[in-house]
Amino acid sequence: MSRFWSRLTHDLRPYVPGEQPHMAELVKLNTNESPFGPSPRVLEAIRAEAAETLRLYPDPQATALRAALAAYHRVRLEQVFVGNGSDEVLAHAFAALLKHDAPLLFPDITYSFYPVYCRLFDIAYEAVPLDEALQIRVADYRRPAGAIIVPNPNAPTGLALSRGAIATLLEEHPDAPVVIDEAYVDFGAETAIPLVESHPNLLVVHTMSKSRALAGLRVGYAIGDRDLIEALTRVKDSFNSYPLGRPAQAGAIASLEDEAYFQQSCARVIEGRERLSRGLVRLGFEVLPSSANFVFVRHPAHEGAALAAALRQQAVIVRHFSAPRISDYLRITVGTDGQIDRLLSAVSDILGSGPTTPS
Ligand code: PMP
Repeated sequence: MSRFWSRLTHDLRPYVPGEQPHMAELVKLNTNESPFGPSPRVLEAIRAEAAETLRLYPDPQATALRAALAAYHRVRLEQVFVGNGSDEVLAHAFAALLKHDAPLLFPDITYSFYPVYCRLFDIAYEAVPLDEALQIRVADYRRPAGAIIVPNPNAPTGLALSRGAIATLLEEHPDAPVVIDEAYVDFGAETAIPLVESHPNLLVVHTMSKSRALAGLRVGYAIGDRDLIEALTRVKDSFNSYPLGRPAQAGAIASLEDEAYFQQSCARVIEGRERLSRGLVRLGFEVLPSSANFVFVRHPAHEGAALAAALRQQAVIVRHFSAPRISDYLRITVGTDGQIDRLLSAVSDILGSGPTTPS
């Protein structure tokens, strides 16, 4: 606290991102990054941008990237917004669309950035409890709502809703903006993008950080009715005209152009997730059925915090949340085959059940 701080700064409770430690031989399974690199075409495109043209500002509207996204998702250019990571897109959505007299609704267990934005933008919200199986129940959202935001799949559970359930949510709240945060959708859930055409209250947010292995490039985007996109653009142009640099715009376009690489890396992550899940079940864990690039698990005989600390001793980093209801769980990112083996053998050592031979 400093006497130079504004009242707003004093009252903030910033989001705490997963750590990025620098340890030798580290198995880093705590921030849902891709275990595989991006498409070689992305690296080529970025290298080509490392040129004299860097002295020039990038296109503030990122028109070429937005056009590529519009073609990829079969929507119109005016239905696409891009930002510096989906966190920035979400921040603009909170400011532009989610502040109303009635409260913003989101699940009680969800992406922990949402309440942080509520504080920053002074948005009243209500956390809607997940059911006993840690599922989102759409019927529980039948209450006064100024707006709704739901990740699908949810984080950190990895559990997904069907497109039909999202359509029900939209139809039950025709007068409220509904944001579906699809950061992990490419790993097996159904995207709500086809609902955009018939639902003017829907904004779908995507990131290139996970399934496109570009967390370090910072590219996120939103797809929705042109009115919603215009609202985001108004906020963006009141904050930072150039959120995406030239390398980011070029790299993101190149990623969209390499569909085969994208499909193959998603499939490899899904295979890894199933193998990791089977290995953990064999070690006695309960594993929630994940549609994401991580699994959310607990062991009936071991506390989450203790397991996370013991894994750290073996240079395996996973994410543990101390929030009520989920403090027994660990969120483990799907790694390479080698990292999955290291994780399983470390867990097996810790549980004292001898070595396992994952299939
Ligand atoms: N939404 C969810 C649900 C997330 O877990 C994350 C990653 N922390 C993000 C959005 C933001 O990702 P990025 O800013 O890298 O696009």
